[in-house]
Amino acid sequence: MEAKPIKASAVISMAAGILLLTAFQASAQNDTNRFHALVLAERGDQHEAFVVAALEWLKATARQDNFTIDVFEKPDQFNKAFLAKYQLFIQLNYPPYRWNDEAKAAFQDYIEQGRGGWVGLHHATLLGEFDGYPMWTWFSDFMGGIRFKSYIAKRVSGTVVAEDTAHPSLRGLPSTFVIDQEEWYTYDKNPRPNVHVLAHVDESSYQPSSDIKMGDHPVVWTNERMKARNIYILMGHHPSLFENDAYKTLVHNAILWAARDKSRDKAVGETNSRTN
Ligand SMILES: [Zn+2]
Repeated sequence: MEAKPIKASAVISMAAGILLLTAFQASAQNDTNRFHALVLAERGDQHEAFVVAALEWLKATARQDNFTIDVFEKPDQFNKAFLAKYQLFIQLNYPPYRWNDEAKAAFQDYIEQGRGGWVGLHHATLLGEFDGYPMWTWFSDFMGGIRFKSYIAKRVSGTVVAEDTAHPSLRGLPSTFVIDQEEWYTYDKNPRPNVHVLAHVDESSYQPSSDIKMGDHPVVWTNERMKARNIYILMGHHPSLFENDAYKTLVHNAILWAARDKSRDKAVGETNSRTN
């Protein structure tokens, strides 16, 4: 006899529960997927074709993955308050010079204090004295204490060998993959003692072969001494990279990993920055 009112209230609370669950799922999805990325893009130089292809791909990826990108061609207006709007800084081949002092200080703070993540491609390690600018020493240290030495101007293909296959940036990638038409920068020393290397290039695989070699030649790495999740990917010269599934997967993984808020990892008891 009293089953009726109980039933009615059970139905109401069930319906409310479903509504609540739906709302929670929607907000959880927005929280985990949505972030703002700043893209500092090098324009109009030898990398124009690559940068154009990268921006097209980034726009499509941002739509698909529910994040936003703002593209800048100069770092002139960057300061701490400006960078605070972004959870990810993508350095799309823009070199580590032509930055004013305020922009440099803001970037250093962003990386050292982990105010957001960083993905740097190719020309981002053009470290040395170029175009009348001195080397940015802090940036050189960030990249493992290196200075740019040489590159394969005629471009060759090479086989990249994954090292830390458990790292989220290498998820879904084969243990080796070929990158075509790359310049394969070399440096005055190996960054390996100062960074965590995620992948290297097998120089014996170069087609055609080249004498411009490093021996042990890291091409993807992260500096775990910085609070920011950061990853440098040496490959990034030729626009055909955005027809290469392995390369697209690597950059995509790197973006999603670097954009994640490290403080959330701490909240769930993870201490290793390599976890995802
Ligand atoms: Zn290049």
